[in-house]
Amino acid sequence: MEGKPVCSHCSGRAVYLDRESGTHLCSQHLKESVQARVLNRIIQEKPLPDKFGVAFSGGKDSTALLAVLVALKEKIPSRLIALTVDEGIGGYREETIRHARDVCSRLNVEHRIITFPDLFGLSLDDFMKNSSRKACTICGILRRRALEVLADQEGVHLLATGHNQDDHAQTTLMNAFSADIKKVFAGSGRTSQFARRIKPFAAVSEREVTLYAILSDLFIDLPECPYASDAFRGEVRRLLNRFEQEHPGSMRNLAHAEEEIRSRLKGKVQLQPLENCKVCGWSGSGEICQVCTVLKEQKNKNNSSTGQ
Ligand SMILES: [Zn+2]
Ligand SMILES: [Zn+2]
Repeated sequence: MEGKPVCSHCSGRAVYLDRESGTHLCSQHLKESVQARVLNRIIQEKPLPDKFGVAFSGGKDSTALLAVLVALKEKIPSRLIALTVDEGIGGYREETIRHARDVCSRLNVEHRIITFPDLFGLSLDDFMKNSSRKACTICGILRRRALEVLADQEGVHLLATGHNQDDHAQTTLMNAFSADIKKVFAGSGRTSQFARRIKPFAAVSEREVTLYAILSDLFIDLPECPYASDAFRGEVRRLLNRFEQEHPGSMRNLAHAEEEIRSRLKGKVQLQPLENCKVCGWSGSGEICQVCTVLKEQKNKNNSSTGQ
């Protein structure tokens, strides 16, 4: 009779198989393995700041990240603070915000929320009325600024996001497919003007992240954002998942390749210097930053709809 698979490190029941190495892991050893990889990323950030921020959407990735960081509390001396942006998306955000508050109170982590209406005067739903732009483009631009404002308000100089290895591999391939070589060199998100950004889950697969959230008893199946419609990413995700099935380790290699390219080219590729926006003064990649461009479009839209 064939028994249940056993952990490769102890006699515990295995919950995870690393197909690349053929290693089975029990719940405890999976958690330790994820924690070790996250710690390894974080200790490269020297010196560690007094306050360590987590961009906390309330979704499974950032929930798992918060749980890992709480488990590593003894090894990371910084004070942890969770920063949430409420974009104002009716019928979706209320539930994820509720979950976010609940997770922070259960993990005993300080939590701050900033809302689009507070910062920009309008919710994402408002912005999207009669808009020809994609919701994810506008939301991405505004959410990034909102996080920077919140990080600045809270004195956070290091900000961790929940991007996992699969996200990383997808982005790498998407940049390559669209020949966006500048992004491959620079990374998709530059360091913001106040807080350095890190991705502690860059070497942790999406399956491991999800399992971590489940094993920590923090996973709940949340509704998907009604605006989510990145068809291209969806296609790349399916392609990569299939490829990973056939060739275990591909995802990891692809995510790693991008970091390798970037580290080898450090200082050799001239990136366009950041400029200060003429309207709001924040640093960006043009005379007028993307946030001010979005706000101006909105104003023009309102004027034309009221006949002014
Ligand atoms: Zn074990
Ligand atoms: Zn601006």
